[in-house]
Amino acid sequence: MTDFTMTTDADGVAIISWDVQGKSMNVLTLDGLAELDALIDQALADEAIKGIVITSGKDTFAGGMDLNVIAKMKEMAGDDPARGLFEGTMKMHGILRKIERAGMDAKTNKGGKPIAAALPGTALGIGLEIPLATHRIFAADNAKAKIGLPEIMVGIFPGAGGTTRLTRKLGAMAASPFLLEGKLSEPKKAKAAGIIDEVVDDPLAAAKAWVLNAKDADILKPWDAKGYKMPGGAPYNPAGFMTFVGASAMVNGKTKGVYPAAKAMLSAVYEGALVPFDTALKIEARWFTNVLMNPSSGNMIRSLFINKEALEKGAVRPEGVPDQRVKKVGVLGAGMMGAGIALVSAQAGMEVVLIDQKQEAADKGKAYTADYMDKGIARKKATPEKKDEVLGRITATTDYAALADADLIIEAVFEDPKVKAEVTKAVDAVTNTDCIFATNTSTLPISELAKASKNPEQFIGIHFFSPVEKMMLVEIIKGKKTGDRAVAKALDFTRQIRKTPIVVNDARFFYANRCIIPYINEGIRMVKEGVAPALIENAAKMVGMPLGPLQLVDETSVDLGAKIARATKAAMGDAYPDGEVDEVIFWMEEQGRLGRKTKAGFYDYDEKGKRQGLSSVVKAQYPQAEAQPDLIDVQHRLLFSQSLEAVRALEEGVLEDIREGDVGAILGWGFAPWSGGPLSWLDMIGAPYAAERCDQLSDAYGERFACPDLLRDMAAKGQSFYGRFDPQADAA
Ligand code: NAD
Repeated sequence: MTDFTMTTDADGVAIISWDVQGKSMNVLTLDGLAELDALIDQALADEAIKGIVITSGKDTFAGGMDLNVIAKMKEMAGDDPARGLFEGTMKMHGILRKIERAGMDAKTNKGGKPIAAALPGTALGIGLEIPLATHRIFAADNAKAKIGLPEIMVGIFPGAGGTTRLTRKLGAMAASPFLLEGKLSEPKKAKAAGIIDEVVDDPLAAAKAWVLNAKDADILKPWDAKGYKMPGGAPYNPAGFMTFVGASAMVNGKTKGVYPAAKAMLSAVYEGALVPFDTALKIEARWFTNVLMNPSSGNMIRSLFINKEALEKGAVRPEGVPDQRVKKVGVLGAGMMGAGIALVSAQAGMEVVLIDQKQEAADKGKAYTADYMDKGIARKKATPEKKDEVLGRITATTDYAALADADLIIEAVFEDPKVKAEVTKAVDAVTNTDCIFATNTSTLPISELAKASKNPEQFIGIHFFSPVEKMMLVEIIKGKKTGDRAVAKALDFTRQIRKTPIVVNDARFFYANRCIIPYINEGIRMVKEGVAPALIENAAKMVGMPLGPLQLVDETSVDLGAKIARATKAAMGDAYPDGEVDEVIFWMEEQGRLGRKTKAGFYDYDEKGKRQGLSSVVKAQYPQAEAQPDLIDVQHRLLFSQSLEAVRALEEGVLEDIREGDVGAILGWGFAPWSGGPLSWLDMIGAPYAAERCDQLSDAYGERFACPDLLRDMAAKGQSFYGRFDPQADAA
């Protein structure tokens, strides 16, 4: 396979074109890197070649490193993985540094060949790190292109010189949003930020012309010239000092110290700023190795990139079912969820019929899309034409006849089995026989609701999270009789709206809510025990949960919790385990402390509804115990309560695929993303230790922490989840 090819034009400019066959976007593999290296050697050695342009044969430049390779690099590194990783990274630095120095004399900095990058479109990750090593970057004026270094989003950092070069090019402060937040920009903004050098109509022609005219001084990087000073100042300089102290505080504030990549990158930047460029690259490589050696990075890449993408591409789609893409969707109930579902469907190009009981309610649901598009226009993310186009696809009505030719129905009416049965029947009376019916219920068993349908094999759960337009996960639930075509339809629809699906079997609370409820309950239980609420909330955040359990209750509302508790108790009878939790929840409900919406909950709120501090009213009702538990105990209670539920879901066959368990947890309820998900977290701490902790926690706090048989068996056999269930995906 040839990823890079080289041609030389009549003027003596070598064009190295990157075009990975069979892929819509270039990604760099180790073989590809070796090819690029060989071509650079060849071009530098050939006297007839005056300069080089690196470009792409596609309409984009590159999407980055093949993350499958990064995930496997540790394995490939053999018995001494840290050394192998470090040496591999240094080799990459060597190749990019060769491009940067371009054959120049080490002492005089003269005699090198100009090398430019011509980017027709998107250039991400190593797809920007290679251009950053060239002498000038030309990008096409393409507002859809994205330029940036998004590595931090999957738990690593730019390790092919991008961290060191961008810091030296822009200064630490200006580089920080691009490095620490993975900010992506369109070419004009990337030029304004100083990341790329020129935005032109024809980058290849402009790059060639530049190469032919470039002088020695044009190709010498500032950091290789005498007297280079870092923009904004290095650490031991008044301005630089402020930057680095602030950055360190900001990173720790945001990551709570649980994301190893952000801290390691900051160390690479800080330490690198104190030494010459080549030493800085070595430091960058050491920290990059450190991050790759941390199980967090492998787990994050596995869940947030490899497995997420596999699920989006249909890894669990039933085989042999023809394309089920949706043309016309009927959305029943134009409330909070229905309005959001109509919006994302219309945005994806589907025709939408949005139905409610009254025309005003249906219109209000449609107005949600109008508001959303208006906000997009104000932020220059949408145009008035686009708004008209999207709104034009939505028909708001009360008339079920409008559903006649819909091929998918999603109901989001009240959470009441009777109401749901009524609308199911009303829909069956008007739709054609192959229409699929989906319910967005959050708590009602799908198999029960399917009983109201004429075609239970065409009945399925499509469970969205709120707010629909923001939350990336869609939980698809198979009832007992749900057929393959309904599953394929739900998956094809999810793909159309560009969200990530997981497919689970029907059981109380499905998967996501089943795991998040024990987390919330554990937090409330601790309040009842007299654990300081601040300790509970901070312990959660310090272990990477986006919201503490008490804040989560306030956001989702105490009355919803009370309603779910009553319904669960009614369904479970004597087996109901959460009486202690209910005592607190029902007291809060009585007090009218329903959370943010009543401006009073576990927290106090100001007039405008802004969260203030943890409430003294709650503290007075549940006084703090004199002895407070260790932080790690609180953290383990919060993480085990979720993770053990995920294990039970797997044991019971609610989850059929561990990848879905991890990806669904991070995207659905924000389970500590640094860990790669609850099953990845258990793998990280190891089954034997996890089982031992279960025994200790269940002795101290109750049966809910009893070690599931599956985990006990894995502990005895020394297995991991990814070793036992998905050896292919094992990145650890
Ligand atoms: P909502 O009260 O905001 O909206 C329900 C809408 O359904 C109302 O506009 C109501 O007028 C309409 N409706 C009721 N009966 C109807 C009928 N017979 N025909 C047509 N329309 C009818 O509720 P919501 O929060 O949007 O929730 C809707 C569903 O989605 C529920 O099943 C809920 O459990 C589920 N859900 C909610 C969330 C959430 O966070 N709110 C998340 C996931 C799933």
